[in-house]
Formats: sequence, structure tokens, C-alpha cells
Amino acid sequence: MKVVICSINSKYIHSSLGPWYLKAAALEAGAKSEIEIIEPNINLKPDYIMDKLINFKADVLAFSCHIWNIAMIRLLLKEIGQRLPDIRIVLGGPEVSYNPLEIMSEFDMVDYIICGEGEEPFSRLLLALESSDCSGDSIEGSLKEIKGLCYRQGADIICNPAEECTSEPSNPYTEEYFNQLEGRIAYIETSRGCPFSCAFCLSGRKGNVRFFDLEKAKKNILYLANSGSKTIKFVDRTFNCHKERTKEIIRFIMKEATNKANPGIPAGVCFHFEVGADLFDQETIDLLNQAPVGLFQLEAGLQSFNGRTLEAIDRHTDLAKLKSNIIKLQAAGKMHMHIDLIAGLPYEDLDSFGHSFDQAYILGPQMLQLGFLKMLHGSKLRRQAEELGYVYCQEPPYEFISNPWISKEEKEILKLCEDALERLANSGRFARSLAYVLEASGMRPFTFFCEFGKKAGISVGVPLDEYTEWFYEYAADLPGVNKEKLRDLLVCDRLSCDNTGSLPPCLKIEDSRHKLVARALNKKNGYKKQPYRLFGFGLLYCGPVLEVAVADYRHKDPVTGCYPVEIFNYDELTADL
Ligand code: SF4
Repeated sequence: MKVVICSINSKYIHSSLGPWYLKAAALEAGAKSEIEIIEPNINLKPDYIMDKLINFKADVLAFSCHIWNIAMIRLLLKEIGQRLPDIRIVLGGPEVSYNPLEIMSEFDMVDYIICGEGEEPFSRLLLALESSDCSGDSIEGSLKEIKGLCYRQGADIICNPAEECTSEPSNPYTEEYFNQLEGRIAYIETSRGCPFSCAFCLSGRKGNVRFFDLEKAKKNILYLANSGSKTIKFVDRTFNCHKERTKEIIRFIMKEATNKANPGIPAGVCFHFEVGADLFDQETIDLLNQAPVGLFQLEAGLQSFNGRTLEAIDRHTDLAKLKSNIIKLQAAGKMHMHIDLIAGLPYEDLDSFGHSFDQAYILGPQMLQLGFLKMLHGSKLRRQAEELGYVYCQEPPYEFISNPWISKEEKEILKLCEDALERLANSGRFARSLAYVLEASGMRPFTFFCEFGKKAGISVGVPLDEYTEWFYEYAADLPGVNKEKLRDLLVCDRLSCDNTGSLPPCLKIEDSRHKLVARALNKKNGYKKQPYRLFGFGLLYCGPVLEVAVADYRHKDPVTGCYPVEIFNYDELTADL
């Protein structure tokens, strides 16, 4: 029997662990089928994916269904129903686990849906299909024994109750897995489940966690670190929910990464953890703060600073500890910090969200993600949606449209705020100028991003030079902002954010002294002798003396992704010429 497992990723750079877990489990259970895995991405044309699927001439086709790919899978299913009428289709994943009857009623070409964790039911289903194909016996007897499986019996759809898994899944990492990674982000799972039960999330529905074998995890960390991938993401839902394991994994990674004689982890590889920032103890913070710069990235979900909101979504966060831990980690400057906020949670109106936003912003993360509440199938909030008065999109990603606290119009403002936040703050391209504008104008960060967002609109496709000009013009008019100083800071930002050394037209000032600066840098550092640009520079006019900002393109900051900029006195720099 030929089986294809298709996992459609949201970007090329992503890879998926799910299908590899399924294949490993099926083979370990004794399946004899030839199992192929394909991982296209949603940016490809459905026809292209369809042709690939047809070419496999598979007997069974399994899709891993997530919020980012379910729309594409729905399209493909309709096509498959016509073009591959005899193929058996299996669906699994969070987008079908909580509404299998609805899906199987809508798509009559779907033969099976696996609800919940898929490894064991998928293996048992393949064994049952293999056996029935071989013997010609009816498969129904076997199907009713498979926990979490939905299947058809005549015109009926039968759903067996799912069973809680207690075992560790088979190891998904094989030579075949590593061969297809091609340097994309690699994923590792050392625990499954979450001890918390946030009302918008599915990960903590059962409120318990299974921790996997630590020694096996360490071996896999080394394999992945040497696979060519530069980023290894732990998919553990709350990586630091077990303090001692957390420290052991962090110590292990640090030891392997700093072993100069025989490094188990090559330089430049970075490990990403999703954490509860209030769960760290001082020892773990000290440990993280001793790590090499850029070895770790943390993603901390804050969601809101409003106590009533947090209570309503069943999140029990120690806000004071969370803030103090993030401040301590940020102060060391060793790692990229990503903080998540969610707009649209219960009892959080625009004003309250603005205060949550400001508190998160001043913690100084490299990335502040302004997400919008999604009413996921199976989540407590979706079940409460009507009672709470939510209006939300019925199509994926099921984003809220309005609720009693945020109107549709206010949500649009938040979208504009998000766009401005992404381009100005999260891009890291305006670090100096943005900090100056906020300080000089005295504007609250939330007010600034909303106001500028309204002015700029949704900026997809707007080139950086044009966007820089919009920001410059808008911010220069704010009370307290000195236009010349802002121009100079923008020059430093632009020189530092990429290694082209070029400035946008709005910041360029014709000045014959540029030639002298180039000669001085050339003499000092071999500016033009290298095949690539080593330095970028710009003249700064706002101070009492003429200065030169020089960006050094030999050293990129692994945390911010920017290049360092040093300021020289023009006269001193060019004195020897
Ligand atoms: S949001 Fe995070 S902490 Fe809450 S249940 Fe989901 S994974 Fe767990």
C-alpha cells in the first residue's frame, strides 16, 4: 500500500514534525506500507500541490490540518474527490479534531478523521487497512477498536472516543528527515501538553504535560544543531513549566555550545523557547544571562496586563514577577525576546489594551507581537462566544470582528497600529529614531503607533525608503521633536539596519565632504579594497560640530540583527588627509 502524508506549512522556512512522527510510529508498529511525506507551503498554487499528490499514485492520502492550511486543504479535497475518487483520505490535526462530524458531513470524500494525538490511531488505521487489503476481510471490526477515529459505516459516521496518551511518541528524526530539512527551521518536542488552560488555546485543554526522555532529547538537540538549520525551535508549549528540566536542557546546550575544543553545537545556531516569563527562578535567569549572545531566543506570551481579562481567560500570571524577570533578561542583552499580546480578549477595551500595550512596549522586547484573538475550534472562548457577545469570522483563522469591548472600527485602528508596530519597532530598523521620537514628544507608545498607523495606512508593499520618508515627515512635526536630530538618528538607523550603506533620498544631503570621509575610511580600514562593503557612513549635522556616523558591516549583532554604528568627529577623522 502506498501512503502519502501531506503537511502544508505556512512558509517555506518552516518544517513540520507531525508527519515524521506519524511515519515513525507506523513503521514502529509494523506497517509495511511505503510512506512518503510531502511538505509544500501555502504560497504554492493548489494545482501544483494537486499534481504532486496525483503523481504519487497513493492508496491513502493523509493531511495534517491546521489553522494556516485548512483553507487550502478544503480546496484540495474538492479536487481530489473528482480526480482521485478511489483514494482513501485521512485527516488529522487541530482543525478537524473538534468538529469531525461537520467535516465528514461536508466532505464525503473524507474516509477517516483522527481526533487528538495521531501517532497511535494512525498506525493502527494503516495496519487495519493493510490487513483488509490483503485478506479482503471487512475492516469495520478493527476500526471500532481505534481510539479517536471517526469513520463511515454505511450512511453513518461513527466517532470512537479518544483516549489520553501516556507513552512517548516514536523518534521522528531519521536520515530522510534531515535530508529534506535543507537549513529550514527545525523543531523539537521534549514535552507534550501544557499545565495551564488558557481559554483561547487548545494546548492546555487537558491541563497535563508528558515529559519525554531527557537523554533522548539531548541526542536529538545535537543532531538538529548539526543538521544545517540555524534555528531550532522547541515546540514545548510552556518550555519552562518544569524548572529542573529547563535548567538541565539550558546547561546542556550551553556546555555543548561553549566547548571550544569539541563543540557539539556549531556557532550561529540558536534555540527558541516558548516560556511563561513569570515561571523563571533566579537561578535560571542567571544561567540564561551567562549564555553566549544569540544562543537563545525567548517567546513569552503576556496576552494582557488587565487582571479581569486574565481571570476571564483562566490565565494566572504573576504580573510583577513577569515584568521583573523580563527586565532582568533584557538587561543582560544576551537574547532576542519576543512578547505576545492579544487584542480582543474579554473585558479589554481599547483603553485597557493600550495600557497593556504600553507596559509590554517599555519592557523593550525585540519583537512585540500584536495578535488578534482567534476563536479556535475546541477552545473555551469559542464555546462562550455567543454568551460573551463575540462576532467572529466563520472562516479560518476565525479572527474576532468585534466584541462588547472593542468595536469593529476600533479593531481597524488596532490593525493599523499593528502595521506601524511591525514596520517601525519590530523590524528593528528605526530603533534610535523611534526611541527619540517617543521620548521627545512624550507620546504614549500605543497612541503613537495608532496615530501614525492611521496616517500611514496598511503599508504592505510600500518600499522602506518611502516608509522612512512618511515616518520622518510625521514625526518631525510632533511637538518637542527636533527635525535635524531626528534626521541624524534616522541616518544612523538606516546605516545600521542593512549592509548596503545607502540612505533614502529624504535623508541625503549633498556635501562635498563625503569624499573626504570615504578617503579617510579607506586609508584607515581599506574601505574600498574589499570585494564587499565593510563600512557605511553618513554625515551628522545637528550637533555643535560636524560628525560622521560609521556603521561596521563586519559585525552583526546576533540579537538585534543590526550592525554597530560609531560616531566620529569629522575634523579628527579627516585630519591626516
Ligand atoms: S496559551 Fe500557552 S500557557 Fe496557555 S494553555 Fe496555551 S500553551 Fe499553555
